[in-house]
Amino acid sequence: MTSRSKTHISPPPAGEPYLLTPGPLTTASSVKQAMQRDWGSWDGDFRAMTAKMRSELLDLIGDTNSEFDCVPIQGSGTFVVEAMLASFLPRQSRTLVLVNGAYGKRVVETLTYLGRAHTIIDKGDYLPPRASEVAAALEADPDITHVVVVHCETSSGILNPISEISDVVYKAGRKLLIDSMSAFGALSVDVSTIRYEAVVASSNKCIEGVPGFGFVIGRKSELEQAKGRSHSLSLDVHAQWTNMNKTGQWRFTPPTHVVAAFMEALRLHKEEGGVSARGDRYAENRNVLVAGMRDIGFETLLTEPWLSPIIVTFFNPVHSAFEFQKFYDAMKQRGFIIYPGKLTVVDSFRIGCIGHMDASVMQQVVDAARDVLAELGVDSARPPEAALLERSKLAA
Ligand SMILES: *Cc1c(COP(=O)(O)O)cnc(C)c1O
Repeated sequence: MTSRSKTHISPPPAGEPYLLTPGPLTTASSVKQAMQRDWGSWDGDFRAMTAKMRSELLDLIGDTNSEFDCVPIQGSGTFVVEAMLASFLPRQSRTLVLVNGAYGKRVVETLTYLGRAHTIIDKGDYLPPRASEVAAALEADPDITHVVVVHCETSSGILNPISEISDVVYKAGRKLLIDSMSAFGALSVDVSTIRYEAVVASSNKCIEGVPGFGFVIGRKSELEQAKGRSHSLSLDVHAQWTNMNKTGQWRFTPPTHVVAAFMEALRLHKEEGGVSARGDRYAENRNVLVAGMRDIGFETLLTEPWLSPIIVTFFNPVHSAFEFQKFYDAMKQRGFIIYPGKLTVVDSFRIGCIGHMDASVMQQVVDAARDVLAELGVDSARPPEAALLERSKLAA
């Protein structure tokens, strides 16, 4: 039996599918309604909204000593990752990037654009970077000043072990930056339990807002040193920070409606019970999804403790009648948008557990998948042996 979610979940309007994707995702109707009014970006009401948003986001990391500040940046999540890297990494820095999927690779690509020296530990499609490997890499290369890690690597859904990584990074006297885009708001990055210099996330993931901006939460002492470092005017975190603190305004046109929607999303987040309650609902979503899909015969790429409550990768069945596009279309017809996989070795698809949805919705997803397999004439969802062999590389 699954416990009922404490938060009231309303279905999307008729004809609108559930987005089982890692953002943009399904939002509450009150979040959408919050966009039905115009705001003057220079006006005191909008400035107050921005100030409140920054302070509420700082509350989510438990910054009781006021050591951090929150700097929103216009654009998608990638914009704010780039902004963080350009502003928090000195031009003479050397960064170790922990890669196990598309978002880690994007960090490397960004550092190449920025001309910042870097080295990588690449674990392939989904294997987790472990503390011992990071410690060894730091010891072998004393020039490394910073480490970048992706919290939940959304391309496989793996929950990377950021706590053990943080411990070895600071034991070695280096600094950590975290891309917590798809985890922030549902999985803790509380500064009393994990040390880092900056973390980034965006409006359209676990806070359940709509897309349009991201935010850097950074240590003030690091923010102060970021002056003049960024290659980019619009992505300069220090400039945005100092200007916002001085005038209360964003430097360039803010996504006013998106911010208004985000305030409603933050209100719902708090009402639900904050980070732990949000994480619990997503974990329950994942549990119902995974148990149901396994019952049909699907296999997950990951097993505990790596299986995040954010998004789950399933192997495609090896059955000759299974075609992802047909499966996708038939799921969409039943009101569910799923997501293609991103593994290079075996074919897969992904189903997100985040967004304004509860376990009863996930049960409907499972029922739809069972239905669709029957419709396609796929009588076994078992993956190819190669997939199971691949998965056996994953030790706890
Ligand atoms: C979503 C996401 C991003 C940002 O992607 P955008 O498409 O630019 O919003 C970055 N890192 C991770 C881990 C993500 O899940």
